[in-house]
Amino acid sequence: MNCLEERILKDGIVKEGNVLKVDSFLNHQMDINLFNEMGKEFAKRFEGKNINKILTIEASGIGIACVVAQHFNVPVVFAKKSKSINIDGDMYVAEVVSYTHKNTNQVIVSKKFLSEDDHVLIIDDFLANGCALQGLISIVQSAGGTVEGIGIAIEKGFQPGGQIIRNLGYQLESLAIVESMDASTGKVEFRAQ
Ligand code: 5GP
Repeated sequence: MNCLEERILKDGIVKEGNVLKVDSFLNHQMDINLFNEMGKEFAKRFEGKNINKILTIEASGIGIACVVAQHFNVPVVFAKKSKSINIDGDMYVAEVVSYTHKNTNQVIVSKKFLSEDDHVLIIDDFLANGCALQGLISIVQSAGGTVEGIGIAIEKGFQPGGQIIRNLGYQLESLAIVESMDASTGKVEFRAQ
């Protein structure tokens, strides 16, 4: 078991609606030493890939992406969530349905910060149905860039996102894959990796 899995067992809280709450160490209070270990692991798993940029999505992806980026020595760009319909032509835009908030956001990245020269590692905190990742992938494609890989902290393996993204042919690396979780008992089980 790796340190992220151990931490999920210790401090994660299983909520109704297939939501795993990890706000004491991942997406509200953030354990930077844990993020650093995650960065080391991603550097190993994506070794040899030509990565010059990390792309994530606000808000929870940003902290993880910044610490991970130190292991790749590359800048981080985050897609911003925007309610505005009047988005000018200087932006790449994708629609993302939020798993936790159950609403749809347009996410935007300035054309200044992503181009056909970019070889991108996408980083996010969770993978559930894969909407956030599909939005980020489409933004990289709009820019003419290349998705070199996708690094996720926690994949919920019983939801379809992982399968969808792997079927598209991307190297998807999830540090913890939750195979099952039960809100009534609090029990969490991981897929062996
Ligand atoms: P997807 O787009 O893959 O359905 O969901 C991914 C996004 O939803 C992540 O960026 C994350 O913010 C949020 N999310 C999905 N499932 C969970 C969960 O169980 N716990 C938390 N804290 N966030 C989640």
